[in-house]
Amino acid sequence: MVSETKSTLVVNAGSSSLKVKLLPQGFSFLVERIGSMSSVKSNLVKTYETAVHNHEQALEICLGHLGKELNLQDIKVVGHRVVHGGEIYTQPTLLDDESIAVIEKLSHLAPLHNPANLEGIRAAQRLLPEAIHVAVFDTAFHATLPAKAFLYGLPRDFYKQGIRKYGFHGSSHDYVTRKAAEVLRQSREDLKIISLHLGNGASAAAVLNGKCVDTSMGLTPLDGLLMGTRVGEIDPGVLLYLLHNGSNPIDLEKLLNKQSGLLGLSGVSNDMRDVRKAAKDGHKEATEALEVFAYRITKIIGAYAAAMAGLDVVVFTGGIGENDVVTRQQSLQGLTFLGIELDEERNARGDLVIHKDESRVKVLVISTDEEGMIAKEAQNAVEGLARL
Ligand code: ADP
Repeated sequence: MVSETKSTLVVNAGSSSLKVKLLPQGFSFLVERIGSMSSVKSNLVKTYETAVHNHEQALEICLGHLGKELNLQDIKVVGHRVVHGGEIYTQPTLLDDESIAVIEKLSHLAPLHNPANLEGIRAAQRLLPEAIHVAVFDTAFHATLPAKAFLYGLPRDFYKQGIRKYGFHGSSHDYVTRKAAEVLRQSREDLKIISLHLGNGASAAAVLNGKCVDTSMGLTPLDGLLMGTRVGEIDPGVLLYLLHNGSNPIDLEKLLNKQSGLLGLSGVSNDMRDVRKAAKDGHKEATEALEVFAYRITKIIGAYAAAMAGLDVVVFTGGIGENDVVTRQQSLQGLTFLGIELDEERNARGDLVIHKDESRVKVLVISTDEEGMIAKEAQNAVEGLARL
């Protein structure tokens, strides 16, 4: 009986890292630098270093620790975060040979992400063969985008090849907008919400009456807001210029993904805390990087309020959205004309509700829970299956 499901394991396999969380117990693991001397961080054991060659070995280590806490047979469902589901996967999907082959085919759209996700899937299927494995896609929540939002102005044939805006961080935007409606005791179906997920990766979503109608990332997680090391919005002409002047695609990929954003602009760090500290100490480039960071958020709030013909709620989440008081303040500055009035004290305290009582637009800070959302979606998919 599926309703007796005891535990759900959430697996998030990155290119050189593996994040694992067991719910409802809340045991979590982060194995970093897979392929060399790796570090294993967990709330179950003290951080330690060990050689880890691949994702399967990393997962084996996590399951070794978990096996001391529970019978691994009790893990009935494994929810896998998969970055790109293309236009095909708009719902959580059972992982079998067929769906795995399709995810593999979609790797051309997300060469930095889907192959790593697949390694995690294959490893988990080998190590937990009795469990039901479900893919939960980062793109799925954005499947409701209208064509006017997802089409690029390229000749049609490119769209037919899958080149369009997809959007990412879907589980997070879905989770925090649901929570926001809950906090306000309103139905998400009646609200115009802008969700700002600001972490190392950063994206915004416009959620109109419960459906995502626009988002700032695109075909890949590179577009839109400024990020830790990713460039975000840029004139494509810049890339042409660089290609004509000696860069090759591999250099460009590195430049745009790893060397840009807060790190590239400040020259200090990709970490908001370091950049903030440098700015405080008078570092001019750090200050400008932070201004670009906040300005892009301001602009996107204006754009999405226009796209939804109104705005009821702004939600901040992610490491920066949840913790960086100044980013929230700077990005909302000047938006009183939209009805956004920030309460400085509440913002400084990092309250859940940070707008003034009289503010027409509500502003909330909500901790994201991507793993919790992935677990729930995976469980729902399995329960739906049981009902068939
Ligand atoms: P990821 O996208 O990797 O999950 P997170 O959501 O954890 O990243 O966000 C990481 C970012 O959050 C970093 O830039 C970090 O500096 C920032 N951050 C974390 N805590 C704070 C804090 N107390 N104040 C300001 N920024 C913070």
